[in-house]
Amino acid sequence: MKLNNKGVSIDLSILIGEVPAPGELKNLVAIHRKLLQKTVEKLAKANPRDLDRTVHSLHEEAFGFYDCLKCANCCRSISPAISYNDVEQLARKLKVKPSEVVVKHLKMDDDGDYVFHSAPCPFIDGENYCSVYSHRPKACREYPHTDRSRFYQLLKLSLKNAEICPVVYAILMKLRK
Ligand code: SF4
Ligand code: SF4
Repeated sequence: MKLNNKGVSIDLSILIGEVPAPGELKNLVAIHRKLLQKTVEKLAKANPRDLDRTVHSLHEEAFGFYDCLKCANCCRSISPAISYNDVEQLARKLKVKPSEVVVKHLKMDDDGDYVFHSAPCPFIDGENYCSVYSHRPKACREYPHTDRSRFYQLLKLSLKNAEICPVVYAILMKLRK
């Protein structure tokens, strides 16, 4: 698939028009599932560097205007995988022992990863602020992964994330042609 390898001639107004509210996402992804799947298959054949450049440009552009504080869909509906280093960081922030973080806030999922005990995340407040922001888990910092290199490795995951994150949905829809 040929991409715009300059990755910059992106019409912001079109992208703005394509960013849906979090509540609409599941329906939209269901409606466009075949199209999105086809898009991901095509993107898997693109030059990896062109793909990274293009997706990173869209990421910068989208997050330049899209306010996560008005969304928080990720923090409210899924949990990051949490490493021991994350536990230590959270313990430092909360001024408790790491074992206390594990007992109070974490459980093990079916893949054997530690995740937050419940959703919404126990650290999100009523105004969508993260109360452990400076010490949040690595996966929280990296979500939704649209600025990661080797994005071709994250295409399947991004298809899943399109149901959660309006920016991922908008980026995939933008790349559908
Ligand atoms: S730790 Fe913070 S950033 Fe991570 S899911 Fe919870 S509220 Fe969101
Ligand atoms: S990363 Fe995506 S899902 Fe999470 S708050 Fe921002 S726009 Fe919403």
